[in-house]
Amino acid sequence: MRNILTAATTILLLGPLLHVGSHAVAAQATQGPKVFISVDMEGLAGAVTSEATSATGRDYEYFRKIMAGEANAAIRGALAAGATEILVRDSHGSKQNILPGDLLPEALLLRGVSEGPKNMMEGIDETFDAVVFIGYHARAGTPNAILEHTSTGNVIDFSINGVSMPEAGYNALVAGLYDVPVVFVSGDRAFVDQATELFGDVGSVATKTEIAGAALSLSPSSANEQIEAGVAEALSNLNRFSPYKMSGPYTMVLKVQTERDLYPGAIRTGEGEVTFTSASLLEILNAFNAMK
Ligand SMILES: [Zn+2]
Repeated sequence: MRNILTAATTILLLGPLLHVGSHAVAAQATQGPKVFISVDMEGLAGAVTSEATSATGRDYEYFRKIMAGEANAAIRGALAAGATEILVRDSHGSKQNILPGDLLPEALLLRGVSEGPKNMMEGIDETFDAVVFIGYHARAGTPNAILEHTSTGNVIDFSINGVSMPEAGYNALVAGLYDVPVVFVSGDRAFVDQATELFGDVGSVATKTEIAGAALSLSPSSANEQIEAGVAEALSNLNRFSPYKMSGPYTMVLKVQTERDLYPGAIRTGEGEVTFTSASLLEILNAFNAMK
């Protein structure tokens, strides 16, 4: 998936000029996995209301540190498994939650809202070997979940080819376009159950469980330890994971509280319900983003 040959060739060509020793060349020749980590906030240890996840929330400044902490735990796990390239996508709200200096320097941080359909998966391409979801939450309407929703508060349900999708679901499909598998997820218990239902036996850490609307949570340090170990374990067994894919054409059904203008080609199929079909998954996501 990565162009190892080109990388090795470049090193070999530059080697004599830079006086790179044989040890350095050997190290470059055995590259480890390239890892994409998408980090949301709602599923972080301890987060239970928008006080944690809204930029105007009382505990937001605290939870952006927790967010960096769980991202760093995943980075340490990836490094332990030999990862040589790591991209962290800040995936919540303004996409400017993790303070850049809080992230371990071994990773690159993709920060800010991006144009186009990839959104929480912006930056993914066929050069990656694995996807990790941290701080994720269940889809709108999930019972016993914490801060569950699907992209916006307006979405009641979003399905693709009959499968009701959490954010993790359609994000995994985007990775699947490039044959990159999801290998590890963390978030609340209801999210983890939903993700394993969709993706099969991926690595996971449930950071908290819902009890009557409240959250019974791991401490952040314990969550971090488990995430680090879980990511390392998953990335050390990459060949047991498959990309999450569907074959096209794709038909989406979107149910919303407040209807938006119809995306070109979309059909109103009921009260607050639109249907749209395309051969392109990214076009489906364009339609979703326009009407959600
Ligand atoms: Zn979020």
